[in-house]
Amino acid sequence: MHYLDHAATTPVSPQAAQAMVEVMTEHFANPSAQYAAGRAARERLDRDRAVIAGALGCRPEELFFTSCGTEGDNWAIRAAMHQNRRVGRHIVTTAMEHSGVLQCVKQLEREGCTATYLRPGPDGRITAEQVRAALREDTALVSVMLVNNETGARLPVEEIAALLRDRPALLHTDAVQGFLKVTFTAGGLGADYAVISAHKVGGPKGAGALYIGGRAKNTLPLLFGGGQEGGLRPGTEATAQIAGFARAVQLRQAGLEEDWARMEACKAYARERLGAIPDLRFVGPADAPHILALSLPGYPSQNIVTELSGLGICISAGSACHRGKASHVLTAMGLDKRTAAGTVRVSFGPETTLEDVDALAAALLEHRKTRFPML
Ligand code: PLP
Repeated sequence: MHYLDHAATTPVSPQAAQAMVEVMTEHFANPSAQYAAGRAARERLDRDRAVIAGALGCRPEELFFTSCGTEGDNWAIRAAMHQNRRVGRHIVTTAMEHSGVLQCVKQLEREGCTATYLRPGPDGRITAEQVRAALREDTALVSVMLVNNETGARLPVEEIAALLRDRPALLHTDAVQGFLKVTFTAGGLGADYAVISAHKVGGPKGAGALYIGGRAKNTLPLLFGGGQEGGLRPGTEATAQIAGFARAVQLRQAGLEEDWARMEACKAYARERLGAIPDLRFVGPADAPHILALSLPGYPSQNIVTELSGLGICISAGSACHRGKASHVLTAMGLDKRTAAGTVRVSFGPETTLEDVDALAAALLEHRKTRFPML
């Protein structure tokens, strides 16, 4: 198999899987239990939290485990709106956020909030100036992603944070595609909330984390129950998933520079090989090392994905979460319909090889030649 869909999810590294097995079989006790095995499970959880907090550049007390990135996004948005309920009910966000943000904001609109959706330019980027122009007296929250999952665009979250320094609006960033892919720390970003997810960095599905720092205070709990996660996200901790998350983070951190260089090399090679295909154009800025979007205008992306799948090549048509629908990101960028409909996303991981790219280039060229010879 040529797996080129690391932005959708990543293979769990064997060491991360091993860490999970260890926790499930040896340190399975409830971390809230008072006996020695419970205390050992708690210590392990504390160590895992410290590892992930270290990689994110925050204090362990500022990191709250969730079940996924979507949960973190929803929680942060609702918590910010709750904290700023006296400031107002206006939200500034972008039209190219992940559905974990967009659908939550849409629900808040149904509940009486108003929202401004900033449109990216044709280059796929949003500027801090756009955010500044959209701010109102009653803006309670700005939610801007760090790296876009379809185009790899890196957004100026630090500049936006600087804009908000003297204003009441809180800042949330969905850093799911940025974590361990682009250089940042939670503190350096200046956001009040930042969200990450384990399965995008070699960890398991079912674990994520929300950084709550900056000006966020008296956070609205996500759930009501026991005292886990400071009482803000109660429920017995997913200790095995968290152990897999932490081990994956450690591994990625240890090989960060080489991994980025390898992904950049794959991307450059892909640009060279795929760029030779007649009519093919690259879409978006691909700032992050792992994402490259490209289009064969007039060739429906679903057909390309299905055909390549038959050859053992895994890529996605835009974001994996929107199967069959026109991408809201590409539409917001103002891409013409034919280009948008023909856009696929290729995404790399530390395991990707140049042979994977060769297989993709050969298959795309063949697809272009045989399926649509008239074009
Ligand atoms: N945000 C972005 C930018 C993503 O790419 C994803 C996953 O595709 C998510 C949020 C949601 O993360 P999860 O799958 O952990 O809910």
